[in-house]
Amino acid sequence: MKRFDLNTCKRVSDWLSTSVKNVVIIPHVNPDGDAIGSAVGLNDVLLNAGYASKVIVPNEFPTYLNYIGSGNEPLIYEQNSVVAHQLIDQADALFYLDFNDSKRLGKLESYLQNKSIPIVLIDHHPDPQIKADYQFSDTDVSSTAELIYDFIESIGLLDQLSAHGASALLTGIIADTGSFSHNASRASTYRIAGDLMHRGADKEQINEALFNNFSEHRMRLLGYCLSEKLEIFPQHKAALIALTAEELERFNFQPGDTEGFVNYPLSISGVVFSAFFVEKNGTVRISFRSKGNFETNIFSANHFNGGGHRNAAGGESKLPIDQALALFRSLLPEYSKKLNRN
Ligand code: 5GP
Ligand code: MN
Repeated sequence: MKRFDLNTCKRVSDWLSTSVKNVVIIPHVNPDGDAIGSAVGLNDVLLNAGYASKVIVPNEFPTYLNYIGSGNEPLIYEQNSVVAHQLIDQADALFYLDFNDSKRLGKLESYLQNKSIPIVLIDHHPDPQIKADYQFSDTDVSSTAELIYDFIESIGLLDQLSAHGASALLTGIIADTGSFSHNASRASTYRIAGDLMHRGADKEQINEALFNNFSEHRMRLLGYCLSEKLEIFPQHKAALIALTAEELERFNFQPGDTEGFVNYPLSISGVVFSAFFVEKNGTVRISFRSKGNFETNIFSANHFNGGGHRNAAGGESKLPIDQALALFRSLLPEYSKKLNRN
């Protein structure tokens, strides 16, 4: 099945083959499995098709994702901006992956804002705020990785995808669906996952890296969150976990260690909204998750400078963590009706 209209695909494909040699691929800041997997999968195809292509990530990513980039590691902008600037200045095309707002370029935003390099946006978040020359945006898909698969199929480059690239894309799908447990109700997701397996994706390696690769500290931090820090608001069907910088330090926090913690409270019967607050580098980062109709992206945009998908969003607060938490608790009665409708 081809998701994109043939006209746009033909225009992109003609433009790529006639006017593009140097490509830079950029996923969002604080990249997750879908961001890195999508970027590395597309990079694999473009390199194999003869383009000079490089992934530049705005900042560091968790080490459990290192295997995806092995052989052609993404360049980390915050660690090597000089080379990144050179690559961007030579680029004929920029691919923006897995984000809908240029704020999500992190420190790259200011460098890119005055450039006039054509942009291709491939993303599955609602209401893209980015001016792209070519836009492939669909909120129904499981992941940006699934869209990348469709994109490379639509422009006739699927046969350039190596086993390694297939693993990167399957990582994106598995990461964004929690192993096919959410955003995974469409048959095409499984058809694509099946084809990626056929092309050599290593599901064992992905599973080990994403789900069986935790440090002892991380496991104990999870236990601490669930036994000591979990707050339930039964009347609002909501749950909250918060960690201070001091608590992170106590558990020898490494980037990525709290990934997924926000999901646990949703497995409690009667909880449809879960929030996870963490104090990091002087700001409070927040993750929201929901089941059913509750729109976490709107909640986050209205109160915590963020956004995302209906059932998975993020945001941040410049308030001290105690005040940010007080604000969250004070908002629940206002949303109680909506939460109880689920
Ligand atoms: P996470 O909780 O995993 O950090 O993010 C969940 C979802 O919300 C992801 O799809 C991510 O792209 C989006 N998201 C996370 N943080 C932000 C943010 O600060 N702003 C916006 N607009 N989206 C975010
Ligand atoms: Mn994604």
